[in-house]
Amino acid sequence: MEFLKQITKPVFLLLLVLPVLIVGCSTDSEDVLPGITTTDADGSTSVDDATLTEVLASLPLDDLSVAESEGLLFMREEEKLAHDVYVAMFELGYSQVFDNISKSEQTHTDAILALLDRYDILDPVGNNPEGVFVNTDLQALYDALILQGSPSLINALYVGAEIEEIDIIDIQNLVDALEGNEDIALVYESLMKGSRNHLRAFVDNLAKQGVDYQPLHLSQEVYDAIINADIETN
Ligand code: MN
Ligand code: MN
Repeated sequence: MEFLKQITKPVFLLLLVLPVLIVGCSTDSEDVLPGITTTDADGSTSVDDATLTEVLASLPLDDLSVAESEGLLFMREEEKLAHDVYVAMFELGYSQVFDNISKSEQTHTDAILALLDRYDILDPVGNNPEGVFVNTDLQALYDALILQGSPSLINALYVGAEIEEIDIIDIQNLVDALEGNEDIALVYESLMKGSRNHLRAFVDNLAKQGVDYQPLHLSQEVYDAIINADIETN
């Protein structure tokens, strides 16, 4: 009997714990997907193309509404806008941060292109050069931001922070409107994390110039939560 007691006690405990273990393991597929981004020490956050390809292949292809399709077309060019503005600011001689983050933005617009290809949607960018956009609102925004950012390093950094604020709001709205489409949600969430890190980087660079940046588009509450948190590394 002593022998049985020795055995049954651990088994009994295991039976108690087992349901907890099973529940703990049965998470959504989203939770077990590998992260598709990499983040450098300066906060520039890129999408890793090989990981993205692998992850997209593992996800279902859901139906795409007109709004979801239009969202992808818009984000393809909005990420290009960030890239093109930062390239222009770097070419004016303003700070290495623009070179580093523009390279990350190229991976963001490429990630949206991967989604356009996946859903058989014609790419609005094609061979369009830097500073040229099909969407007239984005063309007007690009033109205004170049004028606004060009006069000085501080102006350029302000434009960087403002672009990231706009990105966070626009992407969040598109995430909120998704019906399913786990693949698109994953890319959008990753791009938004990139934008939070880039916002931190631009605000940090402004602080080094003695400027206390205040949000132009985000609520103070959301902005403070982002700025008071560390760079997100995964
Ligand atoms: Mn971006
Ligand atoms: Mn960005």
